[in-house]
Amino acid sequence: MSFEKLNLIEPILSALKKEGYTTPTPIQEQAIPILLEGNDLLGCAQTGTGKTAAFAIPILQLLTQNQGHTGNKRAIRSLIVTPTRELAIQIGESFASYGRNLNLRHTVIFGGVNQFSQVNALKAGIDILICTPGRLLDLVQQRHVNLSHIQMFVLDEADRMLDMGFVNDVKRIIKLIPERRQSLFFSATMPKTILELANSILTTPKKVEVTPVSSTAEKISQGVYFVDQAKKNDLLVHVLQDKTIKSALVFTRTKHGADKVVKLLQKLNIKAEAIHGNKSQNHRQRALSNFKGGSTRVLVATDIAARGIDIDELAFVVNFEIPNIPETYVHRIGRTGRAGASGQAISFCDIEERAYLRDIQKLIGLEIPVVSEHPFPAENKPAPGVAQKPQGKKPFSRSGGGKTHRGSGSGSGSGNGGGGNRPKSGGGFKPRFSGNADSKRRPS
Ligand code: AMP
Repeated sequence: MSFEKLNLIEPILSALKKEGYTTPTPIQEQAIPILLEGNDLLGCAQTGTGKTAAFAIPILQLLTQNQGHTGNKRAIRSLIVTPTRELAIQIGESFASYGRNLNLRHTVIFGGVNQFSQVNALKAGIDILICTPGRLLDLVQQRHVNLSHIQMFVLDEADRMLDMGFVNDVKRIIKLIPERRQSLFFSATMPKTILELANSILTTPKKVEVTPVSSTAEKISQGVYFVDQAKKNDLLVHVLQDKTIKSALVFTRTKHGADKVVKLLQKLNIKAEAIHGNKSQNHRQRALSNFKGGSTRVLVATDIAARGIDIDELAFVVNFEIPNIPETYVHRIGRTGRAGASGQAISFCDIEERAYLRDIQKLIGLEIPVVSEHPFPAENKPAPGVAQKPQGKKPFSRSGGGKTHRGSGSGSGSGNGGGGNRPKSGGGFKPRFSGNADSKRRPS
């Protein structure tokens, strides 16, 4: 399948060529035709699957084909609502790239910064508005934004939106846009609350699903280190001694925790920066570009700040703390292995966190391989029956226990054996950990 086969207009095809995209990702292949036909879409896809282009390309094409500004000024005809500023900025960059040859204008608005330049951009007239919910409602209230001409509406990362407490904002936004519209709804997970919200927004949607959240990308190899909380710093430093780890994204549960890890690493001359909600937007952008550019080796982030971070070829994720919401684990490790790159994700698990680990393993349907040989093994042992009991010894490799497809019952027909789902890059995976990793598929 090539982009040419998707009936895209020439200016978009040449923009995609310039981006270096040769073939559509599965979500693009499925969603683009549905959207070009004018259908509503319910997309179950996590970040990293190419979903931004899956909605940006048809929006650009349809708005170009239905030109016709109302009056002499452009009217906002497409609205994309996304939970975080980082994500909003990245979506804006995607529209700029794919729409580079088109006569369409877009702008991005988000909170935490002065609204002046955002308002100026809106005044100049735009076709596409990308925003976070709070700032949008602020500017609507101040009458800087008129949503009455919206033809295409996208709710991006709906599950995260709900997690972050934006549900009422989303409901208010829906009331402000015309009922006759094309709606697109994306979420990495589809629990009941999300489906109810989707049903209230979409009209007879077509459903597209790629990489269900319960099956973490097979190309990401995973490992868990049992370690006491007090020894996590030492373990992190130990892991980072591996010079083949060129860059690492480290997740902490709290902002304070992120700052502490950064301080520790900086003391040891490991270049590290933090991004979290207490940092200014400018600081976050700078930290992100330093990390992308390679001058910062370790980026330490909280979940919310990390949402939407898009770093090509990020190879290494560390869960310094185990997330208490199992889907968050899938989101975190989805930062690696994007667009076909390979990735590794390791997790540091204290005794207190074993229950979270169990929830994660239940969600992904497999036990995460345990890296048992490292210098800081947990001294606090769980009570009998509480511990994971890894069986059998396997090298920690991607084609071994690291694969995390749901066992039988997923109906996918894949991921149900040791060698069926090798990474596309072909064998040659180099175990990076000195220790053994024990793994065992959970009984299904
Ligand atoms: P997303 O899921 O939208 O966050 O996209 C993940 C990454 O994949 C981004 O870095 C995109 O630039 C990249 N990407 C999206 N579509 C394609 C494609 N068809 N070919 C190669 N890379 C892509």
